[in-house]
Amino acid sequence: MSQTALRRSPSPDAEQAALNAAYGVLAGEARLLPIKVTGFYAEKLAAEAAALGHTRGPLHRVVYPSRERLDQRAPGEVADFVDDRSNMKTASRAIVQKYADRVLFLVTPRCAAHCQYCFRQDVLTEMQGDDPADLDETLAALTDHVRADPAIREVILSGGDPLTLSPAALDRVLSRLRALPQLDSIRLHTRCAVFAPPFFDKGDKIGLLAEAGVRLVHHVVHPYEICDRVADLFHRLDRAGIRQYNQFPILRGVNDDAGLLARLLLRLDEARVRNLSLFAPDPIHHSAAFRLTLDRLFAIHDRLSAETPSWINATALTFDSPLGKFRREHLVARDRTAGTALFRHRGQDIPYHDLPAEMDVPGNPAVMLWRG
Ligand code: SF4
Repeated sequence: MSQTALRRSPSPDAEQAALNAAYGVLAGEARLLPIKVTGFYAEKLAAEAAALGHTRGPLHRVVYPSRERLDQRAPGEVADFVDDRSNMKTASRAIVQKYADRVLFLVTPRCAAHCQYCFRQDVLTEMQGDDPADLDETLAALTDHVRADPAIREVILSGGDPLTLSPAALDRVLSRLRALPQLDSIRLHTRCAVFAPPFFDKGDKIGLLAEAGVRLVHHVVHPYEICDRVADLFHRLDRAGIRQYNQFPILRGVNDDAGLLARLLLRLDEARVRNLSLFAPDPIHHSAAFRLTLDRLFAIHDRLSAETPSWINATALTFDSPLGKFRREHLVARDRTAGTALFRHRGQDIPYHDLPAEMDVPGNPAVMLWRG
């Protein structure tokens, strides 16, 4: 390479800064979440960039936009793929009910950091301006809604990330839910363990979670997210008697490799966290950079099943849809020419737009597992 070319090559930082600036404009137009990263996660990003010499590593793709994220669009993308809005059953948009026996409570639109692949970006962006002082009002609406319907057995706290609530607010929420005897389960979804472990030590959040008997579902997407500090947190939660689970999407360029996934699931198992599902990323606007074709999703899942112990290969490959979750075994028809598929579950037909094969450039395992 000539000296001139060397001088003209943007540094990794400059290249990422340009992508971030372009993404800022796109996020405003397309209602995507702005870039947000914690100091704790930024230390991992710095180590990744130093090792790779660029910012196209797996953890960067989790929180920073890539060139493909800006440029690639696939057929069938929509803003709110799981259709939360149609399932908002009360005046409050924080209360979503898609299934008869469980209610989703979007208790806060706030997260410790923002994931580029988040499927709820459209609704969360809209909720960003909601007044946190409304929490008691929303809680009252939620408890009224649950009491009015004895079929509801579970409340799922999500968002946003419920662990970003202050200890006092979390206490208020869990106390109200514990006072509802019809509930068998309070579930809480979070990425605070990997983005901000200190959040668990604000007040006595671990004690509150243990006392309420919650099921805690982490969303760890890569084995390098589980450093010693995160593993230590998982063990502390386990010692406190909290049941811990994990579920996550298979993301192109982040974790789309069976060997990497096996490593993640083993690491979770060692830390007493049981993985439930692998998800296909939802086709929301500007999600193509993360998506895989059905063929490759199935191949990765098959390899994971064939080459790993049973506590790993019991993990199901699951899809979201406006009509609820379904699995690969519910596939009934494919039209490869049109790039469409049809799943049938509980008597309902669920059409699916596959990712065009030419867009599905697999992540490089040497980059995604740069530590070797
Ligand atoms: S933590 Fe969860 S809700 Fe928040 S941006 Fe990430 S995926 Fe979305």
